[in-house]
Amino acid sequence: MLLFPVKGERSAYHGRMMDTPRLHLGSLLRTSSDASAEGELDHLDYEQGGRAQTLRFARPAPLSVDVNPLGGAEMYLQGLFEPALIMECARCLRDVEVPLEIKLGTLMRHDPSVESPYLEEAETGEEVLVFGDPDLNLSDYLAETTLLAAPLSVLHAPDCKGLCQVCGHDLNEGPCEHGAQVPVEEIDDELGVPEGTVHAKQTPFAALRDFKLPEE
Ligand SMILES: [Zn+2]
Ligand SMILES: [Zn+2]
Repeated sequence: MLLFPVKGERSAYHGRMMDTPRLHLGSLLRTSSDASAEGELDHLDYEQGGRAQTLRFARPAPLSVDVNPLGGAEMYLQGLFEPALIMECARCLRDVEVPLEIKLGTLMRHDPSVESPYLEEAETGEEVLVFGDPDLNLSDYLAETTLLAAPLSVLHAPDCKGLCQVCGHDLNEGPCEHGAQVPVEEIDDELGVPEGTVHAKQTPFAALRDFKLPEE
């Protein structure tokens, strides 16, 4: 499902599920008209470091985007994206729902020689989304923006007991034969606090970092 530019009215495509968030900016580039699009994403496929990645959402995430020409090859994108991002508990790896309300606001520049859209830092420190294809795929942009807005790590509950280091048993469901209860540490101050500079992508290693061997 593609997003279409809608002139004048905003709600024509509301509630439509999209595989890929796309903006068609051809007529904006030709005639300096505005472009806008709306729809819902139930997940987000994107590429990071040459690898295919997926952000999972607990329910369809509403997206609305407006693009206004600023003259020349520049334009401004603004909008709202509200995903209920699914992250993994840093200790027990179960799914945790993280609702986000992300205000989008980004300068854009059209450069026909650019193959894949990328974010560039302007002299003002602002980020500029540079793109070549007028049929703009917003997946990478939305994924990066979402990861920046997400907390670095989350716990499914403040007193999550984590997994047994020996057998992987979920200690929230009771002890296992190893009796190797992972001590419940004081909650890390950084947990749950939005972190502006580090991607929140969870890996098994992120969870392992939290494991501590018993003192005795
Ligand atoms: Zn947990
Ligand atoms: Zn065990």
